[in-house]
Amino acid sequence: MTLTPEAQAEIDELRATPRPTLRAVSEGMEAHLYKARPVLDHGFVRVIDYMGDDSAICQAARVSYGKGTKSVSNDEGLIRYLMRHWHSTPFEMCEVKLHVKLPVFVARQWIRHRTANVNEYSARYSILDREFYIPAPEALAAQSVVNNQGRGEALTGEEAARVLDWLKQDSTRAYDHYAEMISQDGQQGLARELARMNLPANIYTQWYWKVDLHNLFHFLRLRADAHAQYEIRVYADAICDVVKDWVPFAYRAFEDYRLGAVTMSAQMVDCVRRMLAGESVTEENCGMSKREWREMMGVLG
Ligand SMILES: Cc1cc2nc3c(=O)[nH]c(=O)nc-3n(C[C@H](O)[C@H](O)[C@H](O)COP(=O)(O)OP(=O)(O)OC[C@H]3O[C@@H](n4cnc5c(N)ncnc54)[C@H](O)[C@@H]3O)c2cc1C
Repeated sequence: MTLTPEAQAEIDELRATPRPTLRAVSEGMEAHLYKARPVLDHGFVRVIDYMGDDSAICQAARVSYGKGTKSVSNDEGLIRYLMRHWHSTPFEMCEVKLHVKLPVFVARQWIRHRTANVNEYSARYSILDREFYIPAPEALAAQSVVNNQGRGEALTGEEAARVLDWLKQDSTRAYDHYAEMISQDGQQGLARELARMNLPANIYTQWYWKVDLHNLFHFLRLRADAHAQYEIRVYADAICDVVKDWVPFAYRAFEDYRLGAVTMSAQMVDCVRRMLAGESVTEENCGMSKREWREMMGVLG
């Protein structure tokens, strides 16, 4: 992660000047506020601001005048009930604003999540930093042979060395040309909004990303999943670590009823019932496609 000394000093100053507030405060989240959590080689996630805590979810569910807390166990029970039964709006009462630094190809996946507010660093106005994502050797994976949208074992030996070399060379060369094109040293200098077009998708960008807890859980459900691309999953994992401390009851319910849960079709439920009744259910008589059967058996182990 690359934070300039000035950026680090600004973060330190913010953390050194606490202010009293009447608003709901999550002690767990206060510990994260403003700090940058490193992700990939130059990226980070940091909390800029947040609203609400576990009790705010209960307060909204009960439409209460005060804090709404009956007891801690009541609160956790209520949150788990809401999560289990898809009563989602109380979770929308909590919000978080993150500052994220991420490679452009990760940003392209991330931005598909439309239910957030985004403001990105402007490469029309500003000059991009010379920072490119170069995978760690263990993340330099081969194309999967079973899944077109996945990866297999890590590349090794000469092949790995050649790929890393190309990634570094291409990034350096593209950035050198970018810098030369915008340079106003003895020339007019190409507009920044045009010069950026030669830059590869592994260059880093930054944005502020604000989202409510319900939609954040949806994002995390998809992107902290084992099927998500590693490079976005590590950001989702970093955010999970923060959310765990911010709203521990809600996060536990999310882990139990979303992240670790599975959806079964009506046919799958029927198969399980038949199995429990002692019937020998097979791929041939299950009434599902081969793929569905495989997926169900994967879940049932
Ligand atoms: C493993 C994986 C593989 C993927 N592969 C591809 C791919 O190959 N190609 C590709 O293009 N995308 C791909 N995606 C992106 C995926 O299709 C979604 O666009 C992305 O995950 C955002 O999900 P979302 O729309 O539910 O989220 P959000 O945009 O946050 O929306 C949340 C929910 O709000 C509702 N909503 C929001 N906007 C609208 C709207 N305009 N109309 C109706 N309902 C709306 C929907 O219920 C939606 O589920 C992939 C995602 C994953 C996780």
